[in-house]
Amino acid sequence: MPVRIEKIRTICTAPEGINLLVVKVETNQPGLYGLGCATFAYRHLAVKLVVEEYLGPLLRGRDAESIEELWQLMHQNAYWRNGPIVNNAISGVDMALWDIKGKLARMPLYQLFGGKCRPAVPVYRHADGRDVQELCENILRFQEMGIQTIRCQCGGYGGESFGSFPAGVPSGAHRGVYLDSGAYIRNTVKLFEELRNRLGYEIRLVHDVHERIAPSEAVRLARLLEPMDLFFLEDPISAEQTEWLRELRRQSSVPIAEGELFTHPHEWRSLIAEHLIDFIRVHISQIGGITPARKLQIFAEQYGVRTAWHGPGDMSPPAHAANIHIDLAAMNFGVQEWSGIEPPNYVIQELKGPHGALLEVFSGLPEYRDGCVYVNEKPGLGVDIDESKAAKYPCETNVVTWTQTRKKDGSLQTP
Ligand code: MG
Repeated sequence: MPVRIEKIRTICTAPEGINLLVVKVETNQPGLYGLGCATFAYRHLAVKLVVEEYLGPLLRGRDAESIEELWQLMHQNAYWRNGPIVNNAISGVDMALWDIKGKLARMPLYQLFGGKCRPAVPVYRHADGRDVQELCENILRFQEMGIQTIRCQCGGYGGESFGSFPAGVPSGAHRGVYLDSGAYIRNTVKLFEELRNRLGYEIRLVHDVHERIAPSEAVRLARLLEPMDLFFLEDPISAEQTEWLRELRRQSSVPIAEGELFTHPHEWRSLIAEHLIDFIRVHISQIGGITPARKLQIFAEQYGVRTAWHGPGDMSPPAHAANIHIDLAAMNFGVQEWSGIEPPNYVIQELKGPHGALLEVFSGLPEYRDGCVYVNEKPGLGVDIDESKAAKYPCETNVVTWTQTRKKDGSLQTP
């Protein structure tokens, strides 16, 4: 009997204070369903509407096994294609269809991608601190947990807290997170010099610029950081200015990871084909799920570009599992960002909600052990959700403030 899509539902839940949107695709076979991630934490209601009002009616009754056909149908059906809201909606369904495919095959997803190239996936974690001393203490805690690659920031991504006006900001300026790019560059270079003095060169260090400086400043920062031997410099250039990567490449050998905000293949194709980046780090629900992510991973492999998929807290467990299943089977895997889903006694808490609440709502999550993440051997993504527990943690819709980043003259700067 063909497996047909019967119902497509969304589940909104915020167990750790971050809005997560999970899509559940139910089939005509009793008990056979799939889960996918459609999390766009700051516009989750818009994505929910696209899934429920447009994709549900479009796909009801169709063959759940024809993933490529259904992906293209969802992508093309509204005539105007792409963008983070539509891509996240498509991703929710796409991941759920892959989950169903794995359950039908009775195999974990990595097997459908060709099997494991490695037993587990090495991850990097985020260490922060108000000063070098505190940062070093946090780095040490991660090293004790077995982490070998650590992203180092001092005071987050730089900038004052929302609402405070530093000296020199013109009167009449809007509230925001105020940035001082000159101070940020000086402090960052000093920070990494100090980290190398204290920690040596054995440990792999990463730094995230988060697109918060002008392109020419990013070129200068990369040059100044060159002696500090970074594993990579993350998102130095905004998605709107990626032509500058050519100049950055010309002037510096610092490895570049780019792509957290990408949504369209035009944004990565020439960067990869011209070897302008070393690591591609898209957020796989933002590009439309597992189907385009696998194509991207294989495309990047042809050019010697490695993967470093985005793995933040505003991503639901089916998406974390999708990252890890692709990583396990990818010859060009680089490293995986990991935002801290571990057995509760391991957690260095970074999230706002109750400790361990994510593990109350979701089961079968990839597990962290000694620097690596392991998936379970259940068919599909291997993750399940307890909907009654999910309902205990409703999502909230607030005006986002951390993205209102501004330069000292009061104008906006990409966050
Ligand atoms: Mg980042």
